Amino acid sequence: MKVSLLEDLWLSAKGIFLSQRFLSQTQRWSQEQIEQFQVVKCRELLRSAASNVPYYKKLFHDLGFDPDRDFRSMADLQRIPTMTKARARGLGSELLNAMEAAKAMELRSSGSTGEPFVIQVSKNHWVMEQAIVWRHWSWMGYRFRDRMAIVRSYVPEAGEPLWKLDPIRNFLYMSAYHLTPENAAAYLEKLREWQPKYLRGYPSSLYILAKMAEAQGITAPRVKGILTASESLLPVYRETIERVFGASVFDWYGQSEETITMNECEAHQGLHINLEYGYCELLADPSLPENERRIVATCLHNLAMPLIRYETGDVAVLAEDGALCGCGRTLPLVKAIKGRSDDFIRTPDGRIIPSVNFYTLFYELPNIIAFQLVQREVGCLEVYIKSQDFGEALLRELRTKLQDRLGEAINIQIHLNEAFVQTGEGKKRVVVSMLGGADAV
Ligand SMILES: [Zn+2]
Repeated sequence: MKVSLLEDLWLSAKGIFLSQRFLSQTQRWSQEQIEQFQVVKCRELLRSAASNVPYYKKLFHDLGFDPDRDFRSMADLQRIPTMTKARARGLGSELLNAMEAAKAMELRSSGSTGEPFVIQVSKNHWVMEQAIVWRHWSWMGYRFRDRMAIVRSYVPEAGEPLWKLDPIRNFLYMSAYHLTPENAAAYLEKLREWQPKYLRGYPSSLYILAKMAEAQGITAPRVKGILTASESLLPVYRETIERVFGASVFDWYGQSEETITMNECEAHQGLHINLEYGYCELLADPSLPENERRIVATCLHNLAMPLIRYETGDVAVLAEDGALCGCGRTLPLVKAIKGRSDDFIRTPDGRIIPSVNFYTLFYELPNIIAFQLVQREVGCLEVYIKSQDFGEALLRELRTKLQDRLGEAINIQIHLNEAFVQTGEGKKRVVVSMLGGADAV
């Protein structure tokens, strides 16, 4: 179900309260305190799953696993096998707690394979998500109604301006789709005039804005902090963004499935794992270098659709052995996140659009099982779609929406139910670009 604006504000307010009253304390808890908290929350989740979620009811029965009897410490969770995204997607309503799901909020993910996946999240979980966001922003020094320019979450329709103001929260949303060499100056001018204290956006969008400021000799506005999320923050992105906007980047890692989040504090020694939010296992894998681990996570608060030991598909680089963060918080650190290097679509008029921008467009259309975008030359985009029922009307709608975002100058070729393009590692990537990343600006 969708929540109203009023309820959205109410849930955010509860999140702020939870952050100030609870998360400000838990971030300094001892390992024992955190584990006790996790065990209590996880037992609640397992009990609820055993009684109300068809898939887990059967699985626990087959395993002879009784949460009341067999779950004593977080290590006991290892009796339950891990869950891949493909498996979770295939299970559909078998993974839902029907009573909770009826009151839950719906999120959609396409993730790294381009297959839409609907996730139901309980409102209690959403409050925790808001609380973690608030704590992260407060690590940067953010306070309510500080001015923040956000280069994401806004897609203007034809004739609408490239930015819009949310006067309640003091957010200036700017379109991430329309950054061209020609109008970068207008974006920067607007930023200089509005004087945001903080900046937020996709790493690739902020990088492109920074590169264009430098290339055109425009002095960018100086801010106090910068928030990035949703894509890999390449070292070159960080260096450029920090140099041009004169502030540090505070990166955020999460997934649409909302099983675990990690974020960077003011000491910038890596990302803290939010153990109040989820239980995180970092598992060795023969295909990975020695200091890298698979991220497998269990969200502790989402009773509507429990994802237990979920294979996120992402990889963490371990922090130095025993490294404690200079900020003094006890939440553990990873050095960096790898494995989500998104590619970009380029347009003949010089725009570079992050692939994450296309996910919503595709999963809003019905019947799409998977999609892939392939770009071999700037003037042409090949769109591969897997669908059992995709008629002429939907094809026209898709073409119009793509052309709106990419402009009329690009030739769009739609391939329905043809084999997807495989990349070097045999991986089916959502975006395959043979033109190089944003780094080639
Ligand atoms: Zn820290």
